Amino acid sequence: MISIIGIPTDKNSSFLKGASNAPPLIMREFHSDSSNLFTESGIDLKEKRHFDYNGCLELDGKKNEFDHIKDAINKELKNNRYCISLGGDHSITFPIISAYHNFYKKLNILHFDAHPDLYQNFENNPYSHASPFARIMENNLAESLIQIGIRTMNSHQKLQAEKYNVEVVTMSKFSSNIKINFDGPIYISIDMDALDPAYAPGVSHPEPGGLSTRDILHIISSLKGKVVGGDIVEYNPKRDIHNLTAVTASKLLKELMGKILE
Ligand code: MN
Ligand code: MN
Repeated sequence: MISIIGIPTDKNSSFLKGASNAPPLIMREFHSDSSNLFTESGIDLKEKRHFDYNGCLELDGKKNEFDHIKDAINKELKNNRYCISLGGDHSITFPIISAYHNFYKKLNILHFDAHPDLYQNFENNPYSHASPFARIMENNLAESLIQIGIRTMNSHQKLQAEKYNVEVVTMSKFSSNIKINFDGPIYISIDMDALDPAYAPGVSHPEPGGLSTRDILHIISSLKGKVVGGDIVEYNPKRDIHNLTAVTASKLLKELMGKILE
């Protein structure tokens, strides 16, 4: 059983706000009559036993946001659920993985992004959406981290990637036939800007020369190993065209669910 959780925050977004409005718009496309709820592998997600969506976390400022997110994910995992979180900006992946670490000591992370998000401290905010994977790796919350789609690597983040033993598949080296293998449970974090802006224009940091929707779907479907959760982040509705990015996020959500239920 999968719990889909909306996490409506863009507090730690450095350049543009807007990602906090994403979760209900992704779910609207998910349920839209323009498509159906079958995964490409033939699973009917309409069946009640497959998932629950109870809306967004109420991040009202009364409680520290990261604690709130971590506690919410903890609660689901305790109930033997798999979680897919809908962002929100990418900063949410750190508290989510902090919760996952309590249940999966040897978690592998597959991370799709145009950006490595490995800054030690970005614009004086160590919890920036540019830093979640630095926080995850320095706290030893992941057994391994593979990043795919990267096309903004700078010298600082290159050193960080080396320091934390991150395997980076840059866009310039990427091939659609890539095979990814992990030993142990897998968590998949999808930043929508990993996609080329042609497929997903609604992001805060569009970076041309990216992945196609099919590239990501192919990597997910051909993965060997048990996928135990994931997130889809950085959809910014303010930047979208004809809800295309919401439709794409909803497609990725369906296939990610299918992979978890496999
Ligand atoms: Mn990004
Ligand atoms: Mn990111």
